[in-house]
Amino acid sequence: MKRILITGAAGFLGSHLCDRYLKEGYRVLGMDNLITGDLKNIEHLFKNEFFEFYHHDVTKFVHVPGELDYILHFASPASPIDYLKIPIQTLKVGAMGTHNLLGLALSKKARILVASTSEVYGDPMVHPQTEEYWGNVNPVGPRGVYDEAKRYQEAITMAYHTFHGLETRIIRIFNTYGPRMRLNDGRVLPAFIGQALRGEDLTVFGDGSQTRSFCYVDDLVEGIYRLLLSDYPHPVNIGNPDEITILQFGEEIIKLTGTNQKLVFKPLPKDDPTQRQPNITKAKEILGWEPKVNRAEGLKITYDYFLNLPKETLYQVEHKDFDTFTRKA
Ligand code: UDP
Repeated sequence: MKRILITGAAGFLGSHLCDRYLKEGYRVLGMDNLITGDLKNIEHLFKNEFFEFYHHDVTKFVHVPGELDYILHFASPASPIDYLKIPIQTLKVGAMGTHNLLGLALSKKARILVASTSEVYGDPMVHPQTEEYWGNVNPVGPRGVYDEAKRYQEAITMAYHTFHGLETRIIRIFNTYGPRMRLNDGRVLPAFIGQALRGEDLTVFGDGSQTRSFCYVDDLVEGIYRLLLSDYPHPVNIGNPDEITILQFGEEIIKLTGTNQKLVFKPLPKDDPTQRQPNITKAKEILGWEPKVNRAEGLKITYDYFLNLPKETLYQVEHKDFDTFTRKA
């Protein structure tokens, strides 16, 4: 059996990856410091004899006993509110955390895939974004701590590949959604659904003309699975090119939830990208991958997940976070 270490295992993406690799017959070692992750996302795995959990912060030296075939580095805060709350940890996990895991991969002769992001393109001047585009990032803006950490992560990962001959993979993840997103992470989908379920108006930042392209989590996981097994060391965009304005997205959520509430407008946060859409030609050609789940299907599954959460969870959202966030505009 192959052994795989997944960092950020208790997070949204990490937990889905644990499920997938266990299903594929791997031994899975999950690691998380639980700053933004939640053990609830993986509690169903604790009875699985092929799953082990390490409560550890990857910015500290990482040790795991035994052989490792693969590492997936998915530990990182990933929403704008989180970077504002924990900017230093965000920088450290992308920089020192990645360095530690590359060192571990080297010593174990393991192949490593690191989770990068469409944020490396910043507020893009090229649309849709291809992997060749170098981006338009403000290093000292509120998103700089995440964007620059991820850009450094890509740089050091390529350096380990070219200098040490390490087998590395880099995925650039575009907006992804699905069950197990945190209701209070400030991202637009849990924000809108949470507001609809609490009977509040839906807060659109700016005039809502900014665009995003939302990928359902199962499609993303399939892309990661294929990229890890491929022999391609350069960055690959994985995302759903179906682009939509935030205003249209709000209207879709109103329809989906049947709420009587309306859209209200709040200031646009600083450096909020005006448009984002992946060019997925590389993923199609190299991995034979493209998304299969359309937004209507994916949103229905995700809404059902939020509907079935214990009612009190809905009210554990720290509203002050949203105010802090929008005041930065
Ligand atoms: N957004 C919004 N209302 C909210 C939360 C977010 O209008 O309550 C907007 C946000 O300004 C951005 C888009 O939705 O333009 C996506 O935001 P998210 O935080 O989900 O991800 P990212 O900006 O990193 O793509």
